[in-house]
Amino acid sequence: MKFGGSVLDSSSKIKTLVNIVNSFKNLEGKDNEIVCVISAISGVTDKIIMLSELIIKGKRSAIKTFIDEMTRLHLDLINNAITDQKLQAEAKKVILDTMKEFQAILEGLVLISEITPRSLDHMLSFGERLAAPIVSYALRNNNLDSDFLTGKEIGIVTDSNFGEARPLMNTTKFRVNAKLIPLILEGKIPVITGYIAADQHGYITTLGRSGSDYTATIIASCINADEVYLWSDVDGLLTAEPLIVKDAQVLDEISYSEAAEMVLFGAKYIHPRALEPVMDSNIPLRLRNAFNLSHPGTTITQNLRISNNIIKSIIAIRNTALIDVSGGGMVGSPGTAANIFDTLAKNKVNIMMISQGPSESSISVVLRKDDLGKAITSLELKLLGKVIKHLNVLEDVSIVTVVGSGMRGIKGIAGRVFSSIAKEDVNVIMIVQGSSELNLAFIVRDDDCEKAVRSLYKEFNLGKTF
Ligand code: ASP
Ligand code: MG
Repeated sequence: MKFGGSVLDSSSKIKTLVNIVNSFKNLEGKDNEIVCVISAISGVTDKIIMLSELIIKGKRSAIKTFIDEMTRLHLDLINNAITDQKLQAEAKKVILDTMKEFQAILEGLVLISEITPRSLDHMLSFGERLAAPIVSYALRNNNLDSDFLTGKEIGIVTDSNFGEARPLMNTTKFRVNAKLIPLILEGKIPVITGYIAADQHGYITTLGRSGSDYTATIIASCINADEVYLWSDVDGLLTAEPLIVKDAQVLDEISYSEAAEMVLFGAKYIHPRALEPVMDSNIPLRLRNAFNLSHPGTTITQNLRISNNIIKSIIAIRNTALIDVSGGGMVGSPGTAANIFDTLAKNKVNIMMISQGPSESSISVVLRKDDLGKAITSLELKLLGKVIKHLNVLEDVSIVTVVGSGMRGIKGIAGRVFSSIAKEDVNVIMIVQGSSELNLAFIVRDDDCEKAVRSLYKEFNLGKTF
């Protein structure tokens, strides 16, 4: 069970968490074994990142303000969530000792006003390292035996790609099993810091933002868990954005590959690689709302019941821009696409959508609006006037994606999609469908986005529960 920051940021929420663990432990008379993975308290990771920016500027005074605020935040949770005096005192000591270590590191970093990716990961690890002990003591406070451990201690080993580290799964599996299984057999509920691990040299790494999801699925696949719960404060994945479509429904079951298309942009953000470990070992992933237990949430699995719904969800991705790169010199000249993508990649521009027609005279790429400046400058400097003759830019466009594995091999879906939005007088600027036929994505003007989503919602009856 992974608990996100939004399930941790008040003592009453921590009590909710404890109740969930307690009730699942004895669910239906079974003695279930539970491993908890904990995020930082909501907002803490962002605050550490902000502090790192001040440290680079040499702002020493920011450290004390930060340490005071963090100490108060975590001690307050302990005061209200842990009633047993002895446990409360122990938990406070852990927090104060951790804070002392954190402060010493920050004071050192500000002296040289430099933060490397490695030292940033070390800083970020404190968010989770402060949260996990509180949860573990709160469980003990309710007579549940528990230990807390970091991702490093539990044996998650990654490459040294600080900030976006990837697990070395074979080593990790071996170490995690050796460490975790004995704890579970002793009847303990291990509480593990999400998001953080260590590389082969023992340096702390992080798995990328929202990495606790990933920690949970990595551990689940190592110990071959029966299921993974990601607890947060939303009911699950939706058929559309509730801001656009009022009666958007929670999907009760979807496949891993459908989920992979949705989790980045839907109501519930999940770490993009978190699906991999459970997908490989076929472990169901349950998205549940900790504050709405009567709602079954969304289950992500392989074995799908036959669904009548060809389309599962419609996703709108706002704040994107399109660059159309063209020039006669591109036709029949191998390496042009590679050149364009390489230039963008070197400047850290992520491409969201690509299309090229068979005439090869233009390539369109869609990217985040925030990256547009960087993208145009780098393409102009590197390629304009050579193979490329024009850069045509469209700001204020949206991607609309229609997701559903039911589209595969069914004729006429694209026809229905485009005639339904044509009836709304929406112009389609670019279209992409992967050959997996799992999704169909197209670009419209941002002003047209809501109209397009609503008309598709109606066309494919997504308002009905299924
Ligand atoms: N605390 C980390 C973040 O905010 C990891 C997580 O929440 O899963 O990104
Ligand atoms: Mg989070």
